[in-house]
Amino acid sequence: MSIVEVTRMTPTPPPTIESFYRFCAEKKLMGVRCNRCTKVTVPPRSVCSHCGASDLSWTELQGKGRLVTYTVIHLPPAQFQAIAPYAIGIVEFDEGARLPGMIKDTPFENLKIGMELQTDFETTTPQEWPRWPRYFFKQS
Ligand SMILES: [Zn+2]
Repeated sequence: MSIVEVTRMTPTPPPTIESFYRFCAEKKLMGVRCNRCTKVTVPPRSVCSHCGASDLSWTELQGKGRLVTYTVIHLPPAQFQAIAPYAIGIVEFDEGARLPGMIKDTPFENLKIGMELQTDFETTTPQEWPRWPRYFFKQS
């Protein structure tokens, strides 16, 4: 008797916004780390946003960081009218990358530049593209 071993290669998803949202659906915040300058880009792109290299590897971010800037939206685009007013901000992660996103579960009066936020993920699937759960930031 012979044993045939089948080796399955895990396909690496392309560094696209679609892959990024698919990872969000698995509650993973994924970016790409540049193999030349080691900086992280999120959401992922096919080239490093710092040095332009295309030698990149997927990396999972811890999702913790500090609020760089924020604004409270009172007059949103049509698809967000039901949840207005809401806050959006840019978070700089411990890994160095910056990502804009909605800030939820945090009273507006608590928002402060420099405060620590963490990333969490929606459990419902939005109706419009991309149809995968999204990330948001909240007070840690
Ligand atoms: Zn680079």
